[in-house]
Amino acid sequence: GSDRIVRALENNIKSVGLEQEVKVIRTGCFGLCALGPIMIIYPEGAFYSRVNVDDVPEIVEEHLLKGRVVKRLLYQETVQEDTVKSLDQTDFYKKQMRVALKNCGVIDPENINEYIAYDGYAALGKVLTEMTPEEVIKTVKDSGLRGRGGGGFLTGQKWSFGAASKADQKYVACNADEGDPGAFMDRSILEGDPHVIIEAMAIAAYAIGANHGFVYIRAEYPIAVQRLQHAIDQAREVGLLGKNILGTGFDFDMELRLGAGAFVCGEETALMTSIDGKRGEPRPRPPFPTTAGIFGKPTVLNNVETYANIPQIILKGAEWFRSIGTEKSKGTKVFALGGKIHNTGLVEVPMGTTLREIVEEIGGGIPGGKKFKAAQTGGPSGGCIPDKYLDVPIDYDNLIEIGSMMGSGGLIVMDEDTCMVDIAKFYLEFTVDESCGKCTPCRVGTKRLYEMLDKISKGQGTMEDLDKMEDLCYYIKENSLCGLGQSAPNPVLSTLKYFRDEYIAHIQDKR
Ligand code: SF4
Repeated sequence: GSDRIVRALENNIKSVGLEQEVKVIRTGCFGLCALGPIMIIYPEGAFYSRVNVDDVPEIVEEHLLKGRVVKRLLYQETVQEDTVKSLDQTDFYKKQMRVALKNCGVIDPENINEYIAYDGYAALGKVLTEMTPEEVIKTVKDSGLRGRGGGGFLTGQKWSFGAASKADQKYVACNADEGDPGAFMDRSILEGDPHVIIEAMAIAAYAIGANHGFVYIRAEYPIAVQRLQHAIDQAREVGLLGKNILGTGFDFDMELRLGAGAFVCGEETALMTSIDGKRGEPRPRPPFPTTAGIFGKPTVLNNVETYANIPQIILKGAEWFRSIGTEKSKGTKVFALGGKIHNTGLVEVPMGTTLREIVEEIGGGIPGGKKFKAAQTGGPSGGCIPDKYLDVPIDYDNLIEIGSMMGSGGLIVMDEDTCMVDIAKFYLEFTVDESCGKCTPCRVGTKRLYEMLDKISKGQGTMEDLDKMEDLCYYIKENSLCGLGQSAPNPVLSTLKYFRDEYIAHIQDKR
């Protein structure tokens, strides 16, 4: 309903003659989706939540004309007796640290000047005028940044492989094909801060010796597509893309390629094959994309959130970034928090924050006084984490150790009423549907696995099915060609490990 609110606001502001004094600006996501639509009025910083069209005349009359805050619309967390707390002091925000989301919900994503006013393109300027490509790669390596798309590979290392490849043409690429159920981190960055991706890709291109970039983006993200294209056009207009950027002799331009909704195209080799204009199917590695990627040329591919960290690493230094997070996972991580939780939304926390802090403090706990049962991280490739691990610091390695994975950042909370067999079935149904069919273990194996799960969930399974299912899971993991198949059994394995009693209950109670 935000569009209608914006139109009503503009009309009301005009009708009282304030259109020269009050600007209505659309921003990207502010994080607290559960309270939307939201509106912040500056300079007071009054944070109005769950606004609807009927509230607009009162906001204009009371706040804009008479200078009186409309208390009933204020986000109650910000109200303390007679004073209004800053948002940073609220439970939702106080443990968060916004690095990748720094500008989201703050700037007008369609105005390059606002990005520049918040240090935008300063990192590119610094790189092109003060740093050699080797120094850029060293800074990114030293920062310890790992790929936020799920794999967790060291970004600086990947860039150094790209730089070392000799070719007449190299490419940088951005994976914006976010397709996990429940994930919307990349979409929010693209919608709220599109210039950060352009700036970071230009920096990566300079570091590895590329002059062209591709963003592979889901066509189902029309606002992200439109804002990113608008940002590319603006950057080109002011000479931040194209020939001889900032008069330094460095050339770099980029273009969008729209993905048609195949989950497997988020896998790097499938994504590149799709950009080549062929059917988006994975291929065996090696050769790795840094040797032979798009059109057979060396290509460095990073995901949206990974790129969103780059300009600040360049400006603030590797040491600053290293000071955030855990020993092996540096920086912050953005999570899309959903499911049975009060504060659904987008949160960014330092690596090492515990699940309990995210669920109970930032997320505000489970609605209806229900008990926490599990959280699924990593979407269909991840696993369910039971309550005994609520206090484990979240980072790449700890999540793998407890049978899940970071994935791209979907975090779905389940309460005591959730059936874990149904959850496993839901995720498996998704992967069966999205399997590209190229290799048999995934194409046939996930289908057979789904049939067994379906049988159990309908009370028609046997105890032998549990063992058969487990064997099949390992077979699929070990023999599938790409990450989709290799990780598809994870939700089944983790629920079998932690919630086996629920499978047994389905079998014994025949329901
Ligand atoms: Fe396709 Fe699945 Fe094989 Fe990957 S593992 S190539 S998605 S069939």
